[in-house]
Formats: sequence, C-alpha cells, structure tokens
Amino acid sequence: MSSGTINVSVENIFPLIKKFLYSDHEIFLRELISNATDATLKLKHLTNIGEAKVEYGNPMIEVKIDKDKKQLHIIDQGIGMTAEEVEKYINEIAFSGAEEFLEKYKDKNADDAGIIGHFGLGFYSAFMVANKVEIITKSYKDEPAAHWTCDGSPKYTLEEADKTERGTEIILHISEDDTEFLEESRIRELLVKYNKFMPVPIKFGTRTETLPKPEDAKEDDPAPTKEVDNIINNPNPAWTKQPADLKDEDYKKFYRELYPMQFEEPLFNIHLNVDYPFNLTGILYFPKLTNDLNIQKDRIQLYQNQVFVTDNVEGIVPEFLTMLRGVIDSPDIPLNVSRSYLQADGAVKKISSYITRKVADKLKSLFNDNREDFEGKWDDIKIVIEYGMLTEDKFFDKAQEFALYPTVDGDYYTFEELKDAIKDAQTDKDDKLVILYASDKEQQHSYIEAAKNKGYKVLLLNSPIVSHLLQKMESKNENTSFVRVDSDAIDTLIKKEDEPISKLSEEEKEQLKGMLTEIIPSEKFSVQLEAMDSDASPFIITEPEFMRRMKEMQQTGGGGMFGMGAMPDM
Ligand code: ADP
Ligand code: MG
Repeated sequence: MSSGTINVSVENIFPLIKKFLYSDHEIFLRELISNATDATLKLKHLTNIGEAKVEYGNPMIEVKIDKDKKQLHIIDQGIGMTAEEVEKYINEIAFSGAEEFLEKYKDKNADDAGIIGHFGLGFYSAFMVANKVEIITKSYKDEPAAHWTCDGSPKYTLEEADKTERGTEIILHISEDDTEFLEESRIRELLVKYNKFMPVPIKFGTRTETLPKPEDAKEDDPAPTKEVDNIINNPNPAWTKQPADLKDEDYKKFYRELYPMQFEEPLFNIHLNVDYPFNLTGILYFPKLTNDLNIQKDRIQLYQNQVFVTDNVEGIVPEFLTMLRGVIDSPDIPLNVSRSYLQADGAVKKISSYITRKVADKLKSLFNDNREDFEGKWDDIKIVIEYGMLTEDKFFDKAQEFALYPTVDGDYYTFEELKDAIKDAQTDKDDKLVILYASDKEQQHSYIEAAKNKGYKVLLLNSPIVSHLLQKMESKNENTSFVRVDSDAIDTLIKKEDEPISKLSEEEKEQLKGMLTEIIPSEKFSVQLEAMDSDASPFIITEPEFMRRMKEMQQTGGGGMFGMGAMPDM
C-alpha cells in the first residue's frame, strides 16, 4: 500500500469543484461514462491492431446503485489501469486538467457556471456528488489490480486489489446533499439525456422480457418470462450510418427515437456526412412549422462522438436553422471550453457555413426533383427559408433558385418566373416592376378582386417577417417594388384608359367624400371614390405602403423568437 498527496496549488480543489459547478452536478455521470467508453474503445483499437492480445468480446458498461451503502458504481470492461497508470493519469494529469479548468472559471458568475456544465471537467467531477471516490482497476496488461481511494482532500491511498476481470470500477460514496443520485429514476433520466447514443452498450438493471409460449402450453398458462439486461442506449444511431444504407422509414424511426413525444412526422431530412476539411455527421429534420416565430429553439442536439453535449446550438448553427430538429455530431467541436470560445472557434464557423450550404443544396434538389411536392410543403417550411434569406446573405443567393412566391390563387412562382409573368402588365411609367401582394385574403378581398380584374397577379405573402424580407428583395433587385394590394402605390399602375368609371354621380361623390374624410384620418389613409368598379365597394381606402411597413417592422423587429439582434441592418 502506498499513499500520497496530490500536488495541487489550489489549497483544496474539492470545495471549488462543488462550488463552481453547483448548477450542473449531474454532468459527473456523463464524464464517468465517457471515460468508461473511451477505455472500452481504446481496448477495441488495441486488439484490432494486435497490440492487446486479449479477447475483446462484447463489452458493456454497467451502472449500479447500492442504496444501502449510498454508493453508485460505474463498471467497464475496457483497458483498465496499472497502479503506475493510476498515479500518472488520475493523480497527475486528470488533476492538473481539473485544476486548470477551475482556475479559468472560478471567477465566473453563476450564469456562466450553467454553461460550463455543458462541458467536461473529467474524472474529478465525481467529487461534485461524492465525498469519497474509489477506483478499482485491472489493466489488460498482465499486472495486479489497483485500488485508489480519495476522500475529497488532496490525500489519497493506492493499494493492490484482488479484482480479476479486466476493466475499471468507479465507486462513488454519494454525499448527503446529493442523494438524488441514488434514485433509480434520476439516474435513468440522466442516462437517457446524456448517453442515449453512446457507442458502447450501457446496462442499468434488468427488465423482464416475455418469451413466446411453448407449443404444448395450455390456453391460460402465463407466457414465460426471463430477466434480461436493461440496455438503455442505442450504440448505433442512424446518423453514424451511411446514407445509402438508410431508407426513408429508418429516418422516420430515428426521428421518433429522438423525439418520443413528437407525433407529427417530419417533412424531410438532410443527412450530413463530411470528413474533409473537418469531421461532421448528423441528420437534420424539417418539422412542420407554423407561421409563429415563437418556436422552441432547443431542438437540435449537439454530440461529440456520440456523447451528448448540449441542445443549445445557438452560435453553432446559423440562427434560422435552429428551427429545425435533429442531431449534429463532430469530434472537432472542442468540449472543454466556454460557449463564447466555441462561437469564435474556426472549426465551429466552418461547420456553420457547411450546414447552411448543405441545407440549401437539399432544398434545391427537392425543388428540382419534385416541384409539385415542394410547393405542397412550402407553407410549412417557408418561415425557415424566408428567415434564412433575411439573415444569411449566402443563403439568400442560393435560395433564389427555390424560394417560392405563391399567388392568392395558389400558383407558385420563383422570383425569376414571377418577373417574367408580370412584366407586361405590371411595369409602371418609370419602368419599375410593381409586384402586388396581399397578406390576408379575406380582409383584402375586394382589393384583390379589383387588382385581378385589371389583369394583375397578386401574391399571398403572410409570414411575420415579410416586410423585412421585401425590403431586402427590393434592395437586391433594383427596379422592383413590392406593394400591398390595398396600398396607395397601386395607383401608379393604373393607366389612363382603363380608369374605372364610378357609378356615383358627381353630387353623390362629393357627399360621400365629405362624410368619409370626417371619419378617416387623412394623414394616414387616402380615400378613392372611383377606383372600384364592383357594386359592393363604392369606394376604397388605401394606406401608404411605407407607413404600413414601418409599423409592421416595428412590431416584428423587437419581439419574436429572434429578437432585434438578429435582424440585419437594412
Ligand atoms: P480525459 O478523459 O479528458 O482524459 P479525465 O479526467 O476524464 O480526462 O480522465 C483522466 C484519465 O484517467 C483518462 O485520460 C484515462 O487515462 C484515465 N481514466 C479515467 N477513467 C478511466 C477508465 N474508466 N478506464 C481507464 N482509464 C481511465
Ligand atoms: Mg474524461
């Protein structure tokens, strides 16, 4: 037996660990299971290359609660450690890593601590929940097992143990404050949250499996049952497979695995799969989206080598894509860093622009391969595309090829097609193309009918961000203006010869005008008595386009899910 003092400059690191990561005690389990997974995969590698001359077999990781002893055990069948390696990796390296980490973050406030919690602290995070930690480990090398004990001070003991099977068992003596981690339901919750797709099977207890009845069983004999290992994870999730090996049904099945409470099927998926210039895999799903910008954002999950990192991908994928669902997995995403570092990281920036490109390519091919189907989906996906066009210039350029402009009658045009279709009828005297649109078919019904009667096409654009987007379209396309069908600017299109004849006499007009101007604020609206030829509408009231847009932009600019910060200057 030997004992020693871990060489630390911070007087006592354990209270620090507790204090600074207070809000996220739960990540200890993710850290310990990651280590168990690493140890298992290292062994796999060493047996593959012939370095370790042992049978790899079908190793699993087991998590066990011993409520009476107030212990939590994490057991693996990986490479294990010799006593010498425990000295080196646990007493020196792991400790210095933890110390460095805490040095960096100890002055951060509690808000940041939540963020830090998403990232790893490593083995010593065990001391967030335990007042004593034991490691019993046997290396794949032919050496005696080792038993390390540390009670939360820099002192530790290291002695020989009689463990015979290869691998490592970590025993946590759970502290009084953290007894929640002795509850089966709490541990199951954590395993599902962080380890659902880890690459090594994780056993947590057993479950009863019903077997088929034997042939000679009587009608009311109970079906036989047997206890089997309860494996809580899927070690081979769909995103780790090749797209060619997956069918549409597999993608849908994986969606249900990711979102068990989500009953609506996704519209389509995008399988991400790059290995150059960085590694990235993942599957993104387009869910059915409503016109509401208040969409829950934490729907894409970020993994690093199948270990859950966070479901807050803000700053990692472009904001408009946070409306999608799915997973992104990259070994190149640095883990032990803060969010602001992550956002500034070069690899992360490349990932972001790669994903944007991939999404645009997929939309383009959906549009090209089956336009009818794409048009059918447009209403459910347009909010993402329009928001993307508004906020990402590169996406804007690509989206020109598939962004659609539906008319009130349900015809869909790309912007180029639209320009072609209306250029004869809707060019004003200054040679400007005037694109008419409605935002509400019911409310603007008579304006729409009037415009259609003149042979104009009227688009139906009703997303909450439409005024911002039109502003951008106009700035990118000189000589076009978008005009709402009930706006006064529509007058510029009216040519002398087809000016409608009012059914009212001059005298009636005067009377009506007098009445109307009394009730309608003239600085905001204008009244026209002769522009309508329908019996139902003896006059129309129009509002200047720029005034209405200003109002709308003030409304959508500040609020909504994206806030003002996301709106580009226009
Ligand atoms: P990291 O995993 O980032 O290296 P940790 O603090 O989590 O840092 O672990 C420190 C080291 O301790 C590991 O690199 C590994 O060498 C060793 N280790 C930890 N857990 C195990 C385990 N279950 N089996 C074998 N080695 C382990
Ligand atoms: Mg680790």
